[in-house]
Amino acid sequence: MASAPSSCAKSVEVMLNRSWAKLNLRSEKVTNWIRLVCARLGVRLHLLKRRVITWLNPPYRTIEVDGSLPSQLKKNTLYIVAEDGFQEQAAMLCPCGCAQILHLNLLPDERPVWRVLRNRDGTTSLRPSVWRKRGCHSHFWFRDSRVIWVNDLHK
Ligand SMILES: [Zn+2]
Repeated sequence: MASAPSSCAKSVEVMLNRSWAKLNLRSEKVTNWIRLVCARLGVRLHLLKRRVITWLNPPYRTIEVDGSLPSQLKKNTLYIVAEDGFQEQAAMLCPCGCAQILHLNLLPDERPVWRVLRNRDGTTSLRPSVWRKRGCHSHFWFRDSRVIWVNDLHK
């Protein structure tokens, strides 16, 4: 009878060790699972962030028009006016929302002059930046069909 408590204690110890081992194994599995989920979630969060940025700052469409601008300009659209095959001006609604039409000269013998760059991926860029000296004083770059505010570049 004297050995009963010790054998009981031993079996309890064995049980505890097994439980501890299982617990450790489980906690390792749980930790790995959490790491995996976080890694996947991290990637998803990254994609979500990009989507939100794209949604908040959608790329512009570039439309080439012959001769003259339409009477109503659409938002998020860069118009390139060409006549006889020569690009004369680019135009867009001011991206600040002030509803002013920005006319950007593309004729090289007049100043100021902008260059339209058509990128391989179908996007458009303008050079140099657009800086309104009057009105809303917007200052932005138009790169890869997106408006990049100059203030944002310095943040
Ligand atoms: Zn403006």
